[in-house]
Amino acid sequence: MTTLPGTPDRPLRVAIIGAGPTGFYAADHLLRNAKVVEVDLYDRLLTPYGLVRLGVAPDHQKIKFVTNVFDKVAANPRFRFYGGVEFGKDVTLADLKMHYHQIVYCTGAQTDRHMGIPGEGLSGSHPATEFVAWYNGHPDYRHCTFDLTQERVAVVGVGNVAVDVVRILCRTPEELATTDIADYALEALRKSRVKDVYLLGRRGPAQAAFTNPEVKELGELADADVTARADEVELDPLSRAAVERSADRATQKKVEILKEYANRRPTGKSRRLTLRFMVSPVEMLGDEAGNVTALKLVRNELYATSTGALQPRATGHFETLPAGLVFRSVGYRGVPLPGVPFNESWGVILNDKGRVLDSDTKQPIVGEYAAGWIKRGPTGVIGTNKPDAAETVDCMFEDLAAGRVLEPAHPEVAAAEALVRQRQPNYFSYEDWKKLDKIETERGRAEGRPRVKFTSVDEMLAALGR
Ligand code: NAP
Repeated sequence: MTTLPGTPDRPLRVAIIGAGPTGFYAADHLLRNAKVVEVDLYDRLLTPYGLVRLGVAPDHQKIKFVTNVFDKVAANPRFRFYGGVEFGKDVTLADLKMHYHQIVYCTGAQTDRHMGIPGEGLSGSHPATEFVAWYNGHPDYRHCTFDLTQERVAVVGVGNVAVDVVRILCRTPEELATTDIADYALEALRKSRVKDVYLLGRRGPAQAAFTNPEVKELGELADADVTARADEVELDPLSRAAVERSADRATQKKVEILKEYANRRPTGKSRRLTLRFMVSPVEMLGDEAGNVTALKLVRNELYATSTGALQPRATGHFETLPAGLVFRSVGYRGVPLPGVPFNESWGVILNDKGRVLDSDTKQPIVGEYAAGWIKRGPTGVIGTNKPDAAETVDCMFEDLAAGRVLEPAHPEVAAAEALVRQRQPNYFSYEDWKKLDKIETERGRAEGRPRVKFTSVDEMLAALGR
């Protein structure tokens, strides 16, 4: 009888795809709880940390301290990072099955959702995810351009990403200059002529997805006045009843914050941020050159669905909101991975508690798992991914105990490393990343900033003398 992997002479070999928070949390849970495991963490980018480096707003540095936890995980001698190695391109699923007993997909939600309205493709209309990736120095988005000569900007959606976007648009160059925002974005935002920014919610203040600390921060911007419309922050009867019934005080507090904004008068700051509710864009209007000039909005009312959820329904009242730059921030969406079953309507890998399921039989596929946003969709804060990853890894342990693992022909650590070297000689190890990290933070220190990021693959390789 062959023994199960997980012994000193036959370690369990696990490949994790995606080095965002979930990938590190999965690695951590594996390294802490498996008997003997060797974990390889792959990412298509040279740098680790996913959205912590490339999604978290540059003026929210404290959140980025979570990378100290990831450093501790990476210090384990049974952990390796393969940065710059893309699943499906540099290494295929078939390759990984030759080297690992278990594979975990932690690729997050790499694209954005659409609103599906006419004019969405006009020039000047962008997904917020592109703007976020651009100002954070994501190598794939550094060449994006946004027309910041426009004075009026609309951001559709009222989640925390939308709040990040309006905050960055409303910050002064001095405020931004102390952050790790990409240099080119800092230069572009210095020249920004943006004056009026609108945040558009399709439901009411009680249903807004943003969290209280985030919306409160909007009221404390150095050079932007925040306001809301009194009629729109007043709760409709259904919302009022729902808030009163709920034990959750946070929603009540949120409504109070928004009511206070509605009472504010302009104080003469250079920019104005207006929070709107109960309106949905139904069309983007453009000029002859194909540039967006305005949003056609319909006023909504709320109704209760059979499950009790309050949803928006269009009334017959329309208005036109002039805006020369529009960001849609209506949620991220997962991208299918080559050869991995995908649930198109939810934008996630087809899975049960993290076990990847066969598209036809809906039965678990041996050796393949998912965790994080690609497992459950783009919800929650960074820490939400910790128990999520633990749930997946616990399923992996259960399957291992039952002998349901892949049987790789070459499970040796060196064999996988040789494959990576052959396919992607310029890959980054964690040590390489820490060298780059040191250079970035040293460049930052000189300017009183947390770091000055490298934003292209060539620059990163050159910095390490490659
Ligand atoms: P989100 O929280 O799901 O918000 C999406 C927003 O888009 C909602 O207001 C939603 O309204 C709206 N929306 C969806 N479809 C729409 C449509 N067709 N027309 C108009 N509005 C539409 O997503 P997110 O802002 O992308 O954030 C993703 C996750 O990351 C969230 O869990 C968020 O809290 C987290 N995050 C946290 C921070 C932080 O902690 N500082 C920062 C950034 C992101 P409905 O509610 O009506 O559907």
